[in-house]
Amino acid sequence: MNLHEYQGKEILNSFGVEIQRGIVATTPEEAVEAAKKLTEQTGTKWYVVKAQVHAGGRGKGGGVKLAKNLEEVKTIASQIIGMTLITPQTGASGKKVHQVLIAEDVYYPGDSEPEEYYMSVLLNRSNGKNMIMYSTEGGMDIEKIAEETPHLIFNEEIDPALGILPFQARKIAFNLGLSGMAFKQMVKFVTALYTAYSKTDSSLFEINPVLKTSDDRILAVDAKVTLDDNALFRHKDYAALRDTREENPIEVEAKAAGLNYVDLDGNVGCMVNGAGLAMATMDLIKQAGGDPANFLDVGGTADAERVETAFNIILKDPNVKAILVNIFGGIVRCDRVAQGIIDAYKNIGNIPVPIIVRLQGTNADIAKVLIEKSGLNVYSVTEFQEAADKVQEVLQELA
Ligand code: GDP
Ligand code: MN
Repeated sequence: MNLHEYQGKEILNSFGVEIQRGIVATTPEEAVEAAKKLTEQTGTKWYVVKAQVHAGGRGKGGGVKLAKNLEEVKTIASQIIGMTLITPQTGASGKKVHQVLIAEDVYYPGDSEPEEYYMSVLLNRSNGKNMIMYSTEGGMDIEKIAEETPHLIFNEEIDPALGILPFQARKIAFNLGLSGMAFKQMVKFVTALYTAYSKTDSSLFEINPVLKTSDDRILAVDAKVTLDDNALFRHKDYAALRDTREENPIEVEAKAAGLNYVDLDGNVGCMVNGAGLAMATMDLIKQAGGDPANFLDVGGTADAERVETAFNIILKDPNVKAILVNIFGGIVRCDRVAQGIIDAYKNIGNIPVPIIVRLQGTNADIAKVLIEKSGLNVYSVTEFQEAADKVQEVLQELA
């Protein structure tokens, strides 16, 4: 689950990470009130109006703007709230902005120039450790740095059993070229950041930029946080931060129905029981020359009703040109799944795409008879290879 910048910053702050402070607003009037309040709290003269959407690169898309007085706050907030923000991370259709963060301007002039760094904490699945990635080249273009000058990005591996050790925090501050007060602040910053990452059961905390202010404070100016969905049961307060407006509507509906569904770009919808078989089925579709339109694990308790719900969800994706049902009946009885498919046909009306069904295991023979007798536009197969061949055939007919 992803969070908004303002939510991520609140969490960071609760773990003692210094942040660029701000107040969230949903109308231009609220934005002005937020700015007034922020000046009372922080003494800031200037403000940054920041679109709150689940996508980075907002600055490039015109979603982050400096305001030098309350009038500008109002004008800019009214431009940004309600706009469809297109950034390198939103795709061409963009994201609608429902709220803005009114933040204090932290790039104020002083003894030294403000400096932007990059820092993220993430899970390294290949070695089962956490990793802190960091760079002096923070700001807006870390993807470009990673591609063109990868030697400017450092990694520090953190053993999750030990947590971040003091020497590691010092090494990071040193590699960022810091000294004196800024060095000490960075050690504190990175230690608190790692603690926040670990205590919240997150899989990503990305802070770009981390700012060294002109008076040597170290602040999180941005925050991209991904919480691990599987750990949300231990963090009910964070679970309440979910903003379903930012999520894929089909995925939200599937989740509410208790289905494990991930939307993908392809044209072959699939309905499978078990995550492993679902992955293998997606491979099968690829090998047959297609592209999976989704990952869908209907789980171990697939009955007729669940199968019908799953069909409804798959069909909401307009790209779906064919559906492959691949069910192994262990606990699940294949005849029930077959009945679900037949019911879905009846209830949904005419399903507009061909369906290839492979049912194997408990009562597969009964299921096959049910489907064949139904006279529906369903191809019933028993072997994996047969399923692949049939998918290929159907796709060729469509081409
Ligand atoms: P992103 O574009 O979605 O990554 O949004 P960020 O929160 O990282 O902001 C984008 C850019 O806006 C930053 O890289 C800064 O250059 C700029 N910015 C953010 N906060 C301030 C601020 O307080 N003052 C000024 N002058 N610029 C800021
Ligand atoms: Mn950023």
